[in-house]
Amino acid sequence: MRLTKFTDLALRTVMRLAVAEQGEPLTTKEVAEAVAAPYTHTAKAVARLQHLGVLEARRGRGGGLELTGFGQRASVGWLVRALEGDEEVVACEGETPCPLRGACRLRGALRTAQQSFYAALDELTVQDLVASPTGPVLVGLTARPSG
Ligand code: SF4
Repeated sequence: MRLTKFTDLALRTVMRLAVAEQGEPLTTKEVAEAVAAPYTHTAKAVARLQHLGVLEARRGRGGGLELTGFGQRASVGWLVRALEGDEEVVACEGETPCPLRGACRLRGALRTAQQSFYAALDELTVQDLVASPTGPVLVGLTARPSG
């Protein structure tokens, strides 16, 4: 199973925000630079995460992005499901529907495998993802101006 680039970028954004100093919100530009992604793509991921209630964006001086309490505690499985949607891993009903789609054992097996994939991620929270060694690396990714 392969995640979309959008989902991966959203997860990288969440991970970077999860290790941000409390009270020192990062801007979308800082997150984009930290995770080596284009600003426009990162802004779309931020908007989606905001819509999901995972992060909040405060405007004005001292503003920026911060994970919500819900975002801090969210399971990775829930987050990936929310970002990926309900798509099956194969497009049985695509532009040219597969003739086997009504009675396909492979389709059923792939659905089961997909559920197992998500179930493994259900065991993890965002906080688990930023435990060492990942967290310290993430912290070092943004060079914030000093002074
Ligand atoms: S063979 Fe089965 S899994 Fe593959 S596209 Fe057809 S219905 Fe879907």
